[in-house]
Amino acid sequence: MNTIIIDGKHTSERVRRNLRSVIEQLKQAGHTPGLAVVLVGEDPASQVYVNSKVKACEELGIYSQKWVMPTETSQEELVQLIDRLNHDDRIHGILVQSPPPPHIDEAAVVLCIDPRKDVDGFHPVNVAKLVMEDSSGFVPCTPLGCMELLKEYGIETKGKHAVIIGRSMIVGKPMAHLLMSKQANATVTVAHSRTTNLADLCRTADILVAAVGRPGLVTAQYVKPGAVVLDVGINRVEDPTRPRGYRIVGDVNYDEVAPLCSAITPVPGGVGPMTIAMLMANTVKACRASCGVD
Ligand code: NAD
Repeated sequence: MNTIIIDGKHTSERVRRNLRSVIEQLKQAGHTPGLAVVLVGEDPASQVYVNSKVKACEELGIYSQKWVMPTETSQEELVQLIDRLNHDDRIHGILVQSPPPPHIDEAAVVLCIDPRKDVDGFHPVNVAKLVMEDSSGFVPCTPLGCMELLKEYGIETKGKHAVIIGRSMIVGKPMAHLLMSKQANATVTVAHSRTTNLADLCRTADILVAAVGRPGLVTAQYVKPGAVVLDVGINRVEDPTRPRGYRIVGDVNYDEVAPLCSAITPVPGGVGPMTIAMLMANTVKACRASCGVD
């Protein structure tokens, strides 16, 4: 099969290019979008994520604040900071990097973020808006990025059977809502860790989304010939041939599955680059809404 390799890097650059001109217009009208990124603790992977979000802001001309708080920061101190950011007019988006240290109640923290600044789309108000198909809400960035990839490559979703493996609040559930929405009109099945006959079920999918966190779980046996496969997984596997001693792979056994598909996202370079681009898009959306452009 002539498989299309869905290029997330290229698509994310196109998204950023479009944002650049919107940001320019906003600035000319006296509004600069602003994002605050909050990190509690010293998790090295989280530090990398936070830095790349701040860098993306700088590249686009989005004002950013980076708050790095010590591991022993209390829930109350974190909530106080969020309250300050909620009232800071320069800030349109607030993101608390996940996962926080174990003594922090992440769900309670999310509740403190003003839903109008919740650019991660985790606040219950935004979850409800997604379910109700109210486009004024914020949608989590990774599933939003997956939808953007489908659009970019002209992949039809209407009437198709989409199977999503994974039911997290960050990927699986919002992805299901986006695909079943009246915009996309797919018929959606959500599979998870207790699903039986997973391979048989996945083989009925026209569009298969893997968001599990298990390297290579999806093998050729899971894929109907001609299906579209979106691999959300980001997994480290040991690789002594690499300088860092590991490499990043997805949830899909790419070499085995790619020849069967009509289109597939590679890892890295597929869904991954879309997440930050959509975070920037959500920040610009929050700014536009706050200054009454939308
Ligand atoms: P999660 O751990 O919150 O959820 C995983 C889901 O997979 C659960 O719903 C669970 O029921 C299901 N699952 C686990 N084992 C299974 C099995 N054997 N069979 C079927 N289902 C199974 O993870 P998450 O936050 O949704 O992330 C999933 C993957 O996506 C991870 O690899 C993560 O790193 C990656 N991710 C990537 C991005 C990105 O920017 N590309 C963003 C978020 C998450």
